[in-house]
Amino acid sequence: MPKIGVLALQGDFREHLASFERLGQETLAVRTPQDLSQVDALVIPGGESSVIDRLSRNYLLAEPIKQRLADGMPAYGSCAGMIMLADRIENPAVSSSGEIQQSFGGIDMTVRRNAFGRQVDSFEYQLDFLGKNLEAVFIRAPEAVQVGSGVQVISTVPAEGDGEQGRIVAVRQGNLLATSFHPEVTGSTAIHEFFIQLTRGDA
Ligand code: GLN
Repeated sequence: MPKIGVLALQGDFREHLASFERLGQETLAVRTPQDLSQVDALVIPGGESSVIDRLSRNYLLAEPIKQRLADGMPAYGSCAGMIMLADRIENPAVSSSGEIQQSFGGIDMTVRRNAFGRQVDSFEYQLDFLGKNLEAVFIRAPEAVQVGSGVQVISTVPAEGDGEQGRIVAVRQGNLLATSFHPEVTGSTAIHEFFIQLTRGDA
């Protein structure tokens, strides 16, 4: 059985580990390059993407993760993790020393951090995820504002105003999956089940 790693530097990695454990999936909390070398797939949790970025570089994990992604390792990013898997961040955080937030990249898309506005920092929405009805929780969530032609749009939420396309909140490109929302906090394991299938080459 493939072993799924969860990047455990910051954010709600415990909830992802618990979701996989409920499904009987073998997991490993990934904090070092040595941990990374033991897993077949990686989940990047929700949290604060600029912190995950900085810690992953401090812990010398950023380059090995990019390398594994380039080699085809399956990965799933939720919320901040979606930002980490985006090739482009429209509005990256800039630190007090002028350092610009980076991502690992992998999915040909541009994400906008905190895209759903201050007035609705957090909301829930019933959406369609590959034919399944899912209660999705959005917490200071990003949105994919542009995706390349190789990116499959899986889920959208309605945009305000008539005639507009929905706002993109779940995507897949090959072995890489990303959602703006947090399936790990709802108790629903549909997305974790899907990622296990993807990791096994069955999705
Ligand atoms: N807004 C956060 C960021 O930019 C993501 C929030 C989350 O993961 N719930 O990383």
